[in-house]
Amino acid sequence: MSLLKYVNDTTGFFDFRTKVGFKINGNEMLLIDSGIDENVGRKIVHEVENRGYAVKMIFLTHSHADHYGGASFIKRRTGAIIVAPKIEACFIENPILEATSFSQAAVPPNFLLNKLIFGESCKVDAILEDDVRLLHDFGTVPVPLPGHSINHYGVLAGDVLFLGDSVFPKETVEKYGVPFLYNPMDTLSSIEKIKNFEAKHFVLYHAGVFNKNDILNLLEFNVKVINDIFDCILKYCKGLTVSEVFSNVLKTLSVNINSLVEYYLVYSTLRSFVNCLVNLSKLKVNLFSGKELLFREDLG
Ligand SMILES: [Zn+2]
Repeated sequence: MSLLKYVNDTTGFFDFRTKVGFKINGNEMLLIDSGIDENVGRKIVHEVENRGYAVKMIFLTHSHADHYGGASFIKRRTGAIIVAPKIEACFIENPILEATSFSQAAVPPNFLLNKLIFGESCKVDAILEDDVRLLHDFGTVPVPLPGHSINHYGVLAGDVLFLGDSVFPKETVEKYGVPFLYNPMDTLSSIEKIKNFEAKHFVLYHAGVFNKNDILNLLEFNVKVINDIFDCILKYCKGLTVSEVFSNVLKTLSVNINSLVEYYLVYSTLRSFVNCLVNLSKLKVNLFSGKELLFREDLG
């Protein structure tokens, strides 16, 4: 069975568990993300060479290891140019920064240095914002869709919009309860942007292709998930500590955390929600006896 799934004549994705995008121009190929590691990278190179194409460029949508971890191998094998958004590029070149950020700027514990958080670093050849026309040779346009990570991008290729991780499939939300977000307010803005795109097909990195109607339903679902988490946090912010609030929120949302890594990811996301509420003047943080207590602003 072919690994390549075409969405239109020149555009599609490698049909792994993660959907690495491609756009063909003549016999040259642009990859959108690279898979998590060398194994995936090797399968991609093998398939591309078998079909007589050459990988010319890899655009990395953001700095999570399941997106960039295979890039270094593909670059070594094909000489492809690596392009990434600014800030994300720093993390892709220095994966220790990702683990450090999850550890609140402290030295990370060893269990965070796994394949999901600490991928193989990759030298970035060009920063997207230095020349946004870099992707134009392939008839594609980068689309800023921040929120899931600090400077996450999607890619528009004709009538196909590659969304990366900018929104989550239902299965992911049902599995984890709290989908990983760097900035939920930015995600809400990105969702509004996606709604208005005149694309026919929408590719999610962890789910594959959606038509316009299905993606609109999924966007609404994502908005509801985010708003429910905001409401749930606000409900408990009556002088409780941050960890008490988080523990109550997780109980209310029936979230089971099964590993320390998940714990770090979920707590980082909940902290993002709290920080957004503080920035929106809906929450305040008071220090009391060395504890960080959360209060709703409307309760005085
Ligand atoms: Zn991601």
